[in-house]
Amino acid sequence: MYTNKVIPKVILPEVEKALSFYPELKDVPITFQFKKSIKKSTMQAQPKYKSFFMPKHKREYIILISNKFHIEQEEYKITDMDKDVLTGWIGHELGHVMDYKDRSTFGMLIFGLKYLFSSAHIQEVERAADTYAVQHGMHKYILATKDFILNNSHISPEYKARIKRLYMSPEEIMELVNTLGAKKTEEEVDKELEKSAL
Ligand SMILES: [Zn+2]
Repeated sequence: MYTNKVIPKVILPEVEKALSFYPELKDVPITFQFKKSIKKSTMQAQPKYKSFFMPKHKREYIILISNKFHIEQEEYKITDMDKDVLTGWIGHELGHVMDYKDRSTFGMLIFGLKYLFSSAHIQEVERAADTYAVQHGMHKYILATKDFILNNSHISPEYKARIKRLYMSPEEIMELVNTLGAKKTEEEVDKELEKSAL
């Protein structure tokens, strides 16, 4: 099924589900690890420091997962989250790994610097992660995650505003799904036409 993964037992089914959509990541070393708290986010995908200067095919990744999800003053355990929402969240992080894996070390360095200083770049990167997830057939899960955040009355307006500003909206996800669907249909029609031309 896959190799080179470290996955905490409590989230094993959701991680395996998300991984099943990404055959390209089958052997890529990825450690999923719980952390007490992560600045401004719930999960975070990054290269492991020890492998940072290795050639990209030897690079290893870590996906940090906050133990707790903060909604205003209340705390929720990540493991209490709806399964599809959690799967979508992990699918988005795996989208980041897809985005990283073909970048050179120098490319990753520039990437990291830009992420720190440019919100336009953050927007671009977050859209890329969602796009990878949707292209890999995960739109149902990605939409579940967005719905969880955007339609949750307990989540603060500030957090929602940040998500709206930086991430793709559910409407944009649907547009992407439709475009990808149309492309597929076009390809199939082309194939049929080719066949009939023979
Ligand atoms: Zn992200």
